[in-house]
Amino acid sequence: MPSKAAPSSLPVVKISRRGTRRLQDGHVWVYRSDIVSASGVAPGAAVGVTDERGKFLGTALYSSASQIAIRMISTHPVNDLPGLLRDRIAAAISYRERVVRDTDAYRVIFSEADFLAGLIVDRYNDLLSVQALTQAMDAEPVRNVIVAELNERLKPASIVERVDPRVRELEQLPARPSGLISSGAADEVQSRKTSTVFSMNGVRFHYEALEGQKTGAFLDQRENYAAAAGYAYGEALDVFCYQGGFALHLAQSCSQVTGVDSSRPALEVADRNAALNGREIEWVEANAFDLLRDYADAGRRYDTIILDPPAFAKSKSNLETALRGYKELNLRALKMLRPSGILVTCCCSYHVSPALYLDVVGDSARDVHRNLRIVENRGQAKDHPILLNVPETGYLKCIIACVSN
Ligand code: SAH
Repeated sequence: MPSKAAPSSLPVVKISRRGTRRLQDGHVWVYRSDIVSASGVAPGAAVGVTDERGKFLGTALYSSASQIAIRMISTHPVNDLPGLLRDRIAAAISYRERVVRDTDAYRVIFSEADFLAGLIVDRYNDLLSVQALTQAMDAEPVRNVIVAELNERLKPASIVERVDPRVRELEQLPARPSGLISSGAADEVQSRKTSTVFSMNGVRFHYEALEGQKTGAFLDQRENYAAAAGYAYGEALDVFCYQGGFALHLAQSCSQVTGVDSSRPALEVADRNAALNGREIEWVEANAFDLLRDYADAGRRYDTIILDPPAFAKSKSNLETALRGYKELNLRALKMLRPSGILVTCCCSYHVSPALYLDVVGDSARDVHRNLRIVENRGQAKDHPILLNVPETGYLKCIIACVSN
């Protein structure tokens, strides 16, 4: 006989058969349309989840606003949420301590993939950047546990909160600016430090916690930078270069590197990063589509081209348009590569599967009559694990290919 009540002291949310099936399939989200009852449950509360007949399915964090109403945190009853959070944070940190190499910048906590749905923590040398993406992770008692645990285990100079106003709006949380939330571990002098220098694969980068985009750098590409540098040679073009992640790595093995981006602030940081590493790189502020067309028309040729555009497919509905965009970029890059050239082509749209992206690259090669050998078919770095059965946690594709004619 299944137990009729949740065997914990938590409030109960009952979900539909479809929601139950989703959890049985291994996913950790239940959508609002699959909530049967959640009466009296406070926004952001930890809840016991049951099926329609009252059978206990696990413990979750509840959002009263998001379309994702439930994010599971355990298949067991949880009566000590702070204890569970502390254990999960400790496990996430010790995994990184074991596997992350050659850097002091990495994702410490990757939300669902670290069984801490709604929480992202990145480390940049002595600074930590925290993003609380749900009502539950934003709740004061939860934030206090997170900050205390991070301070105790990692002893950062500061912890900064990065706020995405759109996320807070969707979660119906009051607006709040990004800012410093903790300066110095308890036993240290208060530092108020919000900028630092971090390094990956021997390359150094400036980090400003309260400027820039996303979380300051694209940590998910860290291992791809090193891989790309292993093949890159000659004259190189880094398209969508942002603050120079690929370009600076390529400069180790290429005779000449040009980085292209439409964002002037990003290029200004890229230039400071080049100086920090004693490298000469040409930075060009331009729309990548226009520039690739102009350069191709002008007969420019390269030995190495990197394509790392922003996510074109933000939802399934614009997938076709996005695929056309990816294809155009790959076509133009392939036209400009010399024989034996190296193409590093990335796609961070979750809606474009690895197989589909390989098709896009393959179609592009056929259209311009180039033979491509895939030498590495890569994804996101080890500090961004993909939770099986939660496909949303895997999004990055990075194909390294060699043009053979
Ligand atoms: N390769 C970078 C990350 C790229 S993120 C790294 O590893 O750090 C995507 C970049 O594309 C952003 O810097 C954004 O400014 C730029 N971008 C977006 N649309 C663009 C366009 N049409 N032309 C050129 N750059 C563009």
